[in-house]
Amino acid sequence: MTGRLDVHDLRVWFGGVKAVDGISLTVSPGKVHGVVGPNGSGKTTLVNAVSGVQPLTGGRLELDGADLTGSPAHVVSRAGIARTFQSIKLIPTLTVRENVLLGADGLTPDAAAGRDVFGRAARRRAATAAARSADEALERLEIAHLADRAPDELSYGTRRRIEIARALAARPTLLLLDEPLAGMSRGERAEVAGVIRRLGDEGLTLFVVEHDLRTLLGICDHLFVMNFGRLIAEGPPRETAAGPEVQEAYLGR
Ligand code: ADP
Repeated sequence: MTGRLDVHDLRVWFGGVKAVDGISLTVSPGKVHGVVGPNGSGKTTLVNAVSGVQPLTGGRLELDGADLTGSPAHVVSRAGIARTFQSIKLIPTLTVRENVLLGADGLTPDAAAGRDVFGRAARRRAATAAARSADEALERLEIAHLADRAPDELSYGTRRRIEIARALAARPTLLLLDEPLAGMSRGERAEVAGVIRRLGDEGLTLFVVEHDLRTLLGICDHLFVMNFGRLIAEGPPRETAAGPEVQEAYLGR
């Protein structure tokens, strides 16, 4: 099983603000990891740093033993890490399927097999692989029947599924979700939480930043708790959430 991420002494400083300040953690293959912490504790910065969107001040990142330290986002994505953003970023003039296809853009089966990637046949194979991957992602998120619709006609929860499908179309081994349940009704939260749990059960490694602690506890196998750019606790979700550091930092008790 793949998707193991090793983060060692990761630092991201913005001038005097130490947004991420010496985080070391391991994300285990095939498990759903939850990340919680108060506002401003560095969760999004951590996701940005791991996905190559945010340059590092220091530290090391490895995916399945391959060094990704300092790699830009497109290299990180080809290595097998995909992500979604806090705010939904779908293109309104494209259909659901076309939006999901964008996620499969970087799939280059010929490059992976060491073949010529510039010929017409290679382009056709790449397009076929991308289409297959997009269709599979639509099926996994149970939105295949909406493939030809425009995203704006659909509910917020469904648009969130489209985003997750687009990330899955890249065939990642590790999927980072930044607040996937934000702004949803209770029903939509339960639905998307169910999708996340199922992806974990199917063997995908997930790293989920989420405010809704109660829902997160119901779906994750391992919980990380951050405060002031540091990891203050981790372990089995319920025990970790009930610990004194977490009660004080996260819930203000
Ligand atoms: P969280 O996701 O836990 O709410 P963030 O990672 O967004 O926390 O922010 C952590 C800290 O870093 C905050 O103090 C925030 O203001 C600061 N920060 C985040 N991004 C930047 C940036 N681009 N420039 C300066 N400060 C930033």
